[in-house]
Amino acid sequence: MTSLLIQNATAILTGLTGDAARHPGPDIRIVEGRIAAIGRLAVESGDRVLDATDCVIYPAWVNTHHHLFQALLKGEPQGINTTLTPWLAATPYRFRAGFDADSFRLAARIGMIELALSGCATIADHNYLYYPGQDYDPSAILFDEAEKLGLRFVLCRGGATLTRQLEAELPQALRPESMAAYMADMERLAAKFHDPAPDAMRRVVMAPTTPPYSMQPDELREAAAVARKLGLRLHSHLSETVGYQDSVNAMHGLSPVRFCESIGWLGDDVWFAHLVKLDPDEIALLGKTRTGIAHCPQSNGRLGSGIAPIRALAAAGVPISIGVDGAASNEAADMISETHSAWLMQRAKGGEAAVAKYRGGAGEQGADWATVEDVVRWGTAGGAAVLGLPAIGSLAVGQAADIAIYDLSHNPRYFGLHDPAIGPVASGGTAHLRSLLVGGREIVRDGKLPDLDMAELAARSREAVRTLIARAEAA
Ligand SMILES: [Zn+2]
Repeated sequence: MTSLLIQNATAILTGLTGDAARHPGPDIRIVEGRIAAIGRLAVESGDRVLDATDCVIYPAWVNTHHHLFQALLKGEPQGINTTLTPWLAATPYRFRAGFDADSFRLAARIGMIELALSGCATIADHNYLYYPGQDYDPSAILFDEAEKLGLRFVLCRGGATLTRQLEAELPQALRPESMAAYMADMERLAAKFHDPAPDAMRRVVMAPTTPPYSMQPDELREAAAVARKLGLRLHSHLSETVGYQDSVNAMHGLSPVRFCESIGWLGDDVWFAHLVKLDPDEIALLGKTRTGIAHCPQSNGRLGSGIAPIRALAAAGVPISIGVDGAASNEAADMISETHSAWLMQRAKGGEAAVAKYRGGAGEQGADWATVEDVVRWGTAGGAAVLGLPAIGSLAVGQAADIAIYDLSHNPRYFGLHDPAIGPVASGGTAHLRSLLVGGREIVRDGKLPDLDMAELAARSREAVRTLIARAEAA
């Protein structure tokens, strides 16, 4: 029997609610990849001991929305100061066709490594790089790279049967798939990769790229039915900007959430990225149906989309999770900066809504719109809930040992904290990752992945960026 004793942690946040959000610890025993005990524990024979002095322990992060291929599209000049729609045309859609098996694999590796080094163990990637005649299998590459790093991976299989107008005007436009080919690939992927276990290492999700633009309404209805027959969840982008509201209203005479209701795309097996722009009745409907959100504050801020109404969504009963979104609308993709931003931006939103008392308002507000315990829960147990992986995302006896251990003694940024538990999120930056465990297996040790040549990875990324630019310009 293999057992690991994590000893003497300074603080433990559990990902749970209320008083259970913190555990005094200071020790955690892991047996056969699961948490066997938390408390003041003595060393037993056979224990390997991990000294967590000066360390803060969180559940490993669960990232519920990403586009890993964009790890090679950061800070792209034509899209840096534009809103969502022109950015899509300038950056991801203009560069998509330039990826080959090698550059796609490299992008996936860079993105996964960046996430792992932030303490993330589970990645849900919304990949929409699929087209007829594609000479590589991006799904297999993503699962392969995650397995090499020891990460849990949820493939949200994007794609489209329609060509979106913003792409149709580009010489690099990818041809859409047929509905039959798309659904056949979903069946193939489900059979090959989908594991329904509560602590699965591999999952598959039905995820047409953006409902109103990617498929006809009857195809979206069919896609939901196919997913539910195969036992797969549903995911997509929704209500990211006012432009999204305008086009769904123009196409269907409905708000985006009402449109999703009309095609069977709401429920506790569905979660949407963004949900920035919502009417009150849409918030109530999302709550009533327990449809979840992947909140992506950095991408929403970078693109000028807005700030999602997380407080109202949570009050309505919407499951809340955090996603980093693609690095092309973020310039980074790690769970510490994302949760740090979520913490600040929800409070700023609360302050923005404040009204002075002499004008009939209630005066100052906003500082309790998101606590660090809230954002840690959203980024861990909240993510596990929307992905349907209840055995991960929280620190409790019986849970899978997906654990991030941050050592706050390496960087003056974290010195002087009166409450070290909140340091990794509240102080921002990149806390030194003493250890990342996935199912009890140590993936990161002392801030490093084993056998990783970072200088070589940097050189390959520079070369790949040059090649992608040349291909986009040659189109
Ligand atoms: Zn996205």
